[in-house]
Amino acid sequence: MTELETIRHSCAHILANAILRIWPEAQFAAGPPVENGFYYDVDLAHRISPEDFERIEKEMAAIISESQPFQREVITRDEALAMGKRGELAGLTPRSESSRFKLDIITRIPAGEEIILYRNGAFTDLCAGPHVADTSKVAAFRLTHVASAFYQGDESNPQLQRIYGTAFPSAKEMENWFAMLEEAKKRDHRKLGKELGLFHIDDAVGQGLILWTPKGAVIRQELQNFISGELAKQGYSQVFTPHIGKIGLYKTSGHFPYYKESQFPAIPEPDQLARIASEGCGCAEMTARLEAVSETFAASLNERAGKEIVAKERVMDPTRLLDGFMLKPMNCPHHIKIFASQPHSYRDLPVRLAEFGTVYRWEQSGELNGMTRVRGFTQDDAHLFCTEEQVAAEVQGCLQLVKKVLTTLGMSDYRVRVGLRDPDSSKFTGNPAQWDLAEQACRDAATSLGVPYTEEPGEAAFYGPKIDFVVKDVLGREWQLGTVQVDYVLPVRFDLSYTGADGKPHVPVMIHRAPFGSLERFTGVLIEHFAGNFPVWLAPEQARVLPVSEKVADYARKIMTEMTAKGIRATADLSPEKLGAKIRLAQLEKVPYMIVVGPKEEAAGQLSIRSRQHGDEGVLAADAFIQRLESEIRDRTLTV
Ligand SMILES: [Zn+2]
Ligand SMILES: [Zn+2]
Repeated sequence: MTELETIRHSCAHILANAILRIWPEAQFAAGPPVENGFYYDVDLAHRISPEDFERIEKEMAAIISESQPFQREVITRDEALAMGKRGELAGLTPRSESSRFKLDIITRIPAGEEIILYRNGAFTDLCAGPHVADTSKVAAFRLTHVASAFYQGDESNPQLQRIYGTAFPSAKEMENWFAMLEEAKKRDHRKLGKELGLFHIDDAVGQGLILWTPKGAVIRQELQNFISGELAKQGYSQVFTPHIGKIGLYKTSGHFPYYKESQFPAIPEPDQLARIASEGCGCAEMTARLEAVSETFAASLNERAGKEIVAKERVMDPTRLLDGFMLKPMNCPHHIKIFASQPHSYRDLPVRLAEFGTVYRWEQSGELNGMTRVRGFTQDDAHLFCTEEQVAAEVQGCLQLVKKVLTTLGMSDYRVRVGLRDPDSSKFTGNPAQWDLAEQACRDAATSLGVPYTEEPGEAAFYGPKIDFVVKDVLGREWQLGTVQVDYVLPVRFDLSYTGADGKPHVPVMIHRAPFGSLERFTGVLIEHFAGNFPVWLAPEQARVLPVSEKVADYARKIMTEMTAKGIRATADLSPEKLGAKIRLAQLEKVPYMIVVGPKEEAAGQLSIRSRQHGDEGVLAADAFIQRLESEIRDRTLTV
């Protein structure tokens, strides 16, 4: 537990203690620290609501002001059971009812493991700790909300009230935290996306499916152009592949049926569907026939892998097998087939195939969230096929690209996680020497970035080490973006090869990389990062001409046309509104530049410039301003 988690978990004890002072019959289950706070699950006839918070918080404050030391005590299982039966575990005094959840928790503690109590004042809880020295160390806290939760997360168990709160080592830190939450609410990409008309989600199309409206599409297109330009400089080739592929492709890759919970169901071929329907085939049987493989398929895949990766249970008589398609959950198999469509020599490697590839994953409705958790998304995907010796340079190239893009977007605060294998686990397949090489390549690449990185043993994919990017936005919130993964498994499964310098066939190494995750998620993050104030190169509308009256409408149109002819996204507000109202509207729509024109400006061939960020910027010759705007767009400057 971190220091902050220890404070928060200690506050959970204080919460339980306070609830017991008010409702002595309360029964407690678990009270762990969680991201951003803590909770405690309580079983109580009274429905705790936010109206009760003040009363509970008052008791909590009293317990904190008493500076009660937290005392650790190891007891025997029999002693623990006896205390539980007397209702004294998470109970203030002996009670007629036993501490039933705590007794259940004791039965789950493996024999031979220590049973530990923590006491503060009159309150005793079964808990492995650790805790702060005394209750006063919980310097600032607040209860935040109540939810319901089943005991042990199991729906057949009783439903409990889960009381959430948060705690901090100082009042100042708590104040900052809640101020940040307020700001985050204002920046919420779902709210801003609607206000600024950037994207739409429509029930009639489907939840989790993003409709990019014209303004949002501009942002996406600019990001794609930027990333594509950088990829071209790094020697990537652009490819396009369809949104679906045959089931067999994903049986070979292992994506189906092993990950079927997170995929849209397979689509049988229409004639086969008609045939099995006429035979009266049920859904369960249809599913089994879609998921099964032929003996030949299983044998060849097992032989290539050198072990049984397709179990005998999945083998079916080929006449019963059903063929069909899947909405692609991954782009890899399609890119692999492009690579395999031609013979390769070691001289052609690395082959780098990039695609803004759209994939579909099944997310539970409750998990969906604006643009950041969706069911269809376009990855900034690429697959690199290289020799073992090239892995280090290629991974480094991927990281340099991330650095360039994030720096350009003003997201220079990010860290990198290097997922390594857990040498003690059998989950990681392949040759240890290859793993060592690839892990070292990932470490070296991470070091070359000059940003902090952590090594996380056990976090590798089963087929190779990986690197994740975690970006901190202006509010200090962390966003996990995409990954770079080294893969020794798929090239074998798909029987890929190239001819080496020795004239013999060799298996290439594959690198999967989608460093920004998906355009949907990345754009959602960017909306919040910029609070909708996109830098001029990304802004859907870069400049708006505001004529002060009807008399200068033609001049306004002329300036707008000059700008659009140069590729600048400019409009003119020719409405009869007063100038002040036009400025307010442009400001509300977060347009970077407002260009005010009146008779004086027209006569002199000038423009009065207002920027979203600095307000009035004075008068400039029309040509000079347009040139300045062009160079800001070209240089992708952040300031407006
Ligand atoms: Zn505890
Ligand atoms: Zn891939």
